[in-house]
This record gives sequence, structure tokens and C-alpha cells, in this order.
Amino acid sequence: MTGPDWVAPGDRRVGILGGTFDPIHYGHLVIAEQVREALELDRVLFVPAAIPPHKPEAVLAAATDRAAMVELAIAGNPAFTISRIELERDGPSYTVDTVGELVDEAARRGVAREFFFILSSEALAGLCTWHEPLRLMSLCRLVVVPRPGAPLPDAAWLESHLPAEPGAGDRAGTAVDRVVCVQTVPLAHSASDVRNRAESGRSIRYLVPPAVEAYIREHRLYRSDHARRTA
Ligand code: ATP
Repeated sequence: MTGPDWVAPGDRRVGILGGTFDPIHYGHLVIAEQVREALELDRVLFVPAAIPPHKPEAVLAAATDRAAMVELAIAGNPAFTISRIELERDGPSYTVDTVGELVDEAARRGVAREFFFILSSEALAGLCTWHEPLRLMSLCRLVVVPRPGAPLPDAAWLESHLPAEPGAGDRAGTAVDRVVCVQTVPLAHSASDVRNRAESGRSIRYLVPPAVEAYIREHRLYRSDHARRTA
């Protein structure tokens, strides 16, 4: 699906999983599926970042390769869709811009949609450094999942770490209400581990779906003899 058809007309509750997906692995797929189930989402959009603001120095596989691997990984799950919204936009991939576009499109169509941005507790810890985090939280709810080494936050942690309006007396009270924690099965997979293994010719079997493994092999991604490009 492209353009406005990323989301089907009947979808009301839409999850968004943004990431570099360099490459997509089972850790991503499990959190998307288990959040979909727990929150009764109609759809989960996988949104590969063009230039992730938090990894500006990272040398990424080409956006076309990263998106192709996402497509291969989600094929067969009717509730999963890729969105190229960030790949088609110039400049850094700010989540707030992405969610803003989706909210605007829903409003244009007169559709009542609720958006849920999925991120790990590790990523949540850096939320205050994101672009316009408070506006982001006004546009969607944040769904936090655990990652090995980063358990789900408790209410006290959220109160003290979430962004708050300048001068707000009750610290992050409102922001806390915008966070939903979902206890997904913790998997220690990481894209950097997959890349390191592929680079040194070690097995990545069972870390990524077979079709992604084959794609990496055929395109010689992450091999030291493969000229890696920025997205
Ligand atoms: P890298 O190792 O290159 O930093 P990554 O594995 O963290 O990559 P991203 O594409 O950056 O993958 O992650 C997208 C989102 O998915 C982030 O919120 C990240 O924290 C989350 N995520 C990635 N892997 C896991 C995992 N194993 N468990 C829970 N969340 C994960």
C-alpha cells in the first residue's frame, strides 16, 4: 500500500513501530504482534526511518534494502503494513512529523482513529531528547515494551522521566496517562548483533525470518566487502 492507503478505511486503532530496521529481526516482530493482540489494534504500521535523528552517524544499509527486508518479514500477516512515509520525506525522520501526518490524514478523511506508537523501555528513556516529545504525546499514546536490560518502567519512573510542560506543577501527570505498558516476551535480539554476525560470516538463522536471512545473503549486506551506503 502506498500514500493514504497505508491504513485501511476500517482501521480504528493503529499501532506504529518506527525504527531503523537495519535489519528487521524477530524482536521487532514479536513486540508488534503482542502489542497488536494486547491492545486490540486493527493494524501495525512498520515505519523505516530515512535518517534517524538518534543515529546520525550510523552508516545504514540503503533505505531500499531496509524497506525490502521489512516487506519480506511482514508478508503473510494481514494486520502488518509497511509505510514509506519517512523514506519519502526529506530531512531527519522525526516521529512527531510522521504521527502528525497520519493524524492529519485521518482528520481529512473524517475517520476517528487512535494511534499508538510502540517503543521499548530503552528507547523511552531517551524520549526527552526527541523532537517535540510533548506534541508527540498529544498526538498518540506511547506503548512501552520491555527489552532485556531495560524492564518496564513503574509510575514513579514515568513521573520523573517523562517530558513536562515548562513550569508544570504536577510534573508529568498528564504525560503519564499517555503511556501504556505492555509486557511482551523479552527477546534479546538487536539489529547490531545481526549485523555483526553477518559481517563476520556467522549464522543469523533464527534471529531474522528466513526470507530476510536470504535477502541479506543474496545482497551481501553487512559484509565487510559490501559497500554500505547511507539511506
Ligand atoms: P540497533 O541494534 O541497530 O540499535 P535495534 O535492534 O534497536 O537496532 P531499531 O530498528 O533501532 O532496532 O528498533 C526500533 C524499535 O524497536 C526501538 O524502539 C527499539 O528499542 C525496539 N526494539 C528493537 N529490538 C527490540 C527487542 N529485542 N525487544 C524490544 N524492543 C526492541
